[in-house]
Amino acid sequence: MDNFFTHYRCTQCGKEFEPTGLHYLCDVCSRDYKPGMPLLGVLEAIFNYPAIREAWLQQPDIRLFSAVNPQFYPPIPVGDTPLFMAPRLAESIGLPQLWIKNDALNPSGSYKDRASQIVVADAVQKGVEEIVAASTGNAASSLACIAASVGKKAVIFAPESAPPAKLIQIQVHGAKLNKVKGTYDDAFKAALDYSATHECICRNTGYHPLTVDGKKSAGLEIFLQSGKVPDWIVIPVGDGVILTGIHKAFMDLMHSGITDKLPRLLAVQADSSDAITSYWETGTYNDAAKPATIADSISVKTPALAHWAVQAITESSGKAIRVSDAEIQQAQLDLAQLAGVFAEPSSSATLAGLKKAVKMGLIPASAGMTSDNAIILLITGHGLKDTASVRSFD
Ligand SMILES: [Zn+2]
Repeated sequence: MDNFFTHYRCTQCGKEFEPTGLHYLCDVCSRDYKPGMPLLGVLEAIFNYPAIREAWLQQPDIRLFSAVNPQFYPPIPVGDTPLFMAPRLAESIGLPQLWIKNDALNPSGSYKDRASQIVVADAVQKGVEEIVAASTGNAASSLACIAASVGKKAVIFAPESAPPAKLIQIQVHGAKLNKVKGTYDDAFKAALDYSATHECICRNTGYHPLTVDGKKSAGLEIFLQSGKVPDWIVIPVGDGVILTGIHKAFMDLMHSGITDKLPRLLAVQADSSDAITSYWETGTYNDAAKPATIADSISVKTPALAHWAVQAITESSGKAIRVSDAEIQQAQLDLAQLAGVFAEPSSSATLAGLKKAVKMGLIPASAGMTSDNAIILLITGHGLKDTASVRSFD
């Protein structure tokens, strides 16, 4: 398959970087970057969009938008997850129609496999043997899983408070686990420090530009599976990388002239981990004061992609909303009992956010009336990864 990736471009200053070589942040814009603040000078993968359009018209294939040639993909299949209707769930919140994209059905039980697939493929292409990542748990267990399929070494920095099932997953797949006495933000810095002194690729989310690009594949799949651009996609948001990836999918489709509209994005955050929501509301960035939520995957004080994520929400005419842990736990049961989907707390937050958005009138109850006007809940992690957070049944 031809590869249409042409170069990286800085999302802030527009400086261009060659497609080969290992690039993280723009050297100009990241001068003032220090761990503990949102990333500066994040790079975006740019493609030959007219050529993609030609190839797409011959044979639509989401791999046309891949920054790494699929010949380097790990052998373990990633993505191609189901998109299906959830009529009982729709009825329970007064919507005529509701769809679920269940990305918990990826190999490691998480959406993060999409980014890991591309970063590991990048390591295969470049002949790099070691990949390091900071994670709240899912990105790490994902990297451990995908790296194992090609025999690459995964080095993980994760908070020791991460759910036990995720820590076990990391070790079962043979990765080197460094438990960090601190938060995810501390782990992020530890992984950056490690990669500065070792010959490796750093998969820290948002920092490696192919993490955003890998995560766009779910958006491309939604378009191919439904044949349309949905009206709303509801996304759990921590660092903002999945949201940005989904937005980039539809931007890439627009740049290629394959679509002419964007889905509106509803960003859902836990109320104590709401830096992106506050930034979107006020236009001013501040860290989340004290993230403490059962939704560990979206528990972030300093979102890596705060700037790009807020831009994506705004460009999509989307909205951002907060939900409480109690609302998340109720939504987890509703998803399991009305749709048959056992999602981890972060993913259950999507349903909690949608319910609230409909109640507040942010999304009209008539939305989702036709497949031209669909609402899609993005489920990003499997509930079995964190059973301790499920509401007690006593
Ligand atoms: Zn720059």
